[in-house]
Amino acid sequence: MLARLPETLDPLRYAEAGRILEGRIAIAKMRRLATLLHEAAGEAEVALNFGVDLDGTRNVQGTIKAAVVLICQRCLAPMTLPVRVSVSLGVVGSEAEAERLSGHYDPLLVGEDPVSLTELVEDELILALPVVACHELGGCHAAQTDQQEPVTDDERPNPFAVLEQLKRD
Ligand SMILES: [Zn+2]
Repeated sequence: MLARLPETLDPLRYAEAGRILEGRIAIAKMRRLATLLHEAAGEAEVALNFGVDLDGTRNVQGTIKAAVVLICQRCLAPMTLPVRVSVSLGVVGSEAEAERLSGHYDPLLVGEDPVSLTELVEDELILALPVVACHELGGCHAAQTDQQEPVTDDERPNPFAVLEQLKRD
């Protein structure tokens, strides 16, 4: 059973209570992420465990999964890319505290205001987007067209020309 996700939360309290959040958030609610996508369709699947580790660090661990629609930069057709983020955040109250965090946590800086769960998930997804999105070779329309065109002898690079070049150098 998936419970309704809260809009905002206090990560410190959640950590101390050892809470678990599981649910879905519509991609359309994530405006900054949506501007980076071809269409803001679908949902992010969120599973987060809040806790306190042996060193006393309040932390958030879990996964965020989504299928985002991007434009393939090779063939310019829309493509659906599965994104899976492993979340490992240490809850900190200041930059100085963030610097003392052990290496396997990214800092989650919290202040007076409660944290927006949607923004937290959105930030993680934005960081996980590829710089350049492309279909897998073989699944890309552009790559398929290339393969179908016979390469003529004129277009083939002559391996001996490369050797000649090497000798001259
Ligand atoms: Zn493509």
